[in-house]
Amino acid sequence: MEDSLYQSLKGAGLEDIGEKVCEGKRISEEDALRLFDCPDLHAVGRLADYACHRKQGAVATYIVNRYLNYSNICILSCRFCAFYRREGEEGAFTFSIEKLVEEAEHSYRQGIREIHCVGGLHPKLPFDYYLALVREIKKACPGIQLKAFTAIEIRHLACRIARLPIEQTLQQLKDAGLDALTGGGAEIFHPEIRNQICRGKETAEEWLEVHRIWHKLGQRSTATMLYGHIEQVSHRVDHLRRLRELQDETGGFTAFVPLPYQPDGSGRLPVVRKTSLLDQLRTIAVSRLYLDNFDHITAYWLSMGLAGAQVALAFGADDLHGTLQEERIYHMAGATTPQGTTARKLERLIREAGRIPVQRDTFYRVVPAGERKELERSSQQDSNGRKEKKMGRLSNPKAS
Ligand code: SF4
Repeated sequence: MEDSLYQSLKGAGLEDIGEKVCEGKRISEEDALRLFDCPDLHAVGRLADYACHRKQGAVATYIVNRYLNYSNICILSCRFCAFYRREGEEGAFTFSIEKLVEEAEHSYRQGIREIHCVGGLHPKLPFDYYLALVREIKKACPGIQLKAFTAIEIRHLACRIARLPIEQTLQQLKDAGLDALTGGGAEIFHPEIRNQICRGKETAEEWLEVHRIWHKLGQRSTATMLYGHIEQVSHRVDHLRRLRELQDETGGFTAFVPLPYQPDGSGRLPVVRKTSLLDQLRTIAVSRLYLDNFDHITAYWLSMGLAGAQVALAFGADDLHGTLQEERIYHMAGATTPQGTTARKLERLIREAGRIPVQRDTFYRVVPAGERKELERSSQQDSNGRKEKKMGRLSNPKAS
């Protein structure tokens, strides 16, 4: 450890944690709580940056991706969620497979590498709809990576719709072409908080079990944590502990994506302490230091803002997620960040932060330059050929 880092940690009373990190030893839950409580955020961030550089060098990644939401109709009513609607309620939507494939194809021609697809827990859509959705997108967009469904959606499909064991449900989706599961639905694992913010939702154990089975099928997924509402930092550490344990067991998580809560203004979930940028940077730093078995920690710019995510690259993050075209869930909750950005902008932010920008795929593999050029060329051809077609929101929802 270089002397200036050691002095900084010593000044903050963190030299014992610094030594553990430098020797490649694990930090404990007590250590993580101390990092959350330490007034010297700069020292915590420097240590996380050290750990990040040791794992990833100077590289920081992003992906060219877009969101696709098939339906916002949901049988649950999580208190933090501004996205869901009941059937027949104003603003409810469910898209046909044809419309979703058309949108995916359009994005594919523009150079999108990954489709990120989630929806509500629809009471009636048959399992065949989901299988066809996966199959038809993969057929129409060869080579695109489809990251879809939260563990909560998977349990809903398995237990209420297909009435199949989780493993068989996942196997059928995998056979249809599903590449990766999303990390959504984790919220906060601790039952004391979970019961208050999303009563009726699957438990932490059930969420973890879906990922465990998916990983045992040889597949990968991400993990998230929704924080900055009514939880305490001890609940965050409990959440990280459960993820670290499962990662020790399966090694199937590609990345951890902490999600700062975006209050929707409805007051349905009164926020005890709205998360500040400093709290978000600290959460990223502690995640990097505690989750020593996760390769990637993502700064989700959509909720942190582009400038906040850029700063997070000095606090342990090594990934900015993606271009995130067509995001709805955070924006329906009132996010004021742009609804998507460009690869060029993300690269500039990474470079300004002193890191080397690398475009990745769903599995954090480098996208070869040749392949990128091809995608950029296709994108150019597409925009020339379809000047009149806007890339905007799905404008014609088919009522469910
Ligand atoms: S968070 Fe998901 S499960 Fe909960 S209400 Fe919203 S769409 Fe439904």
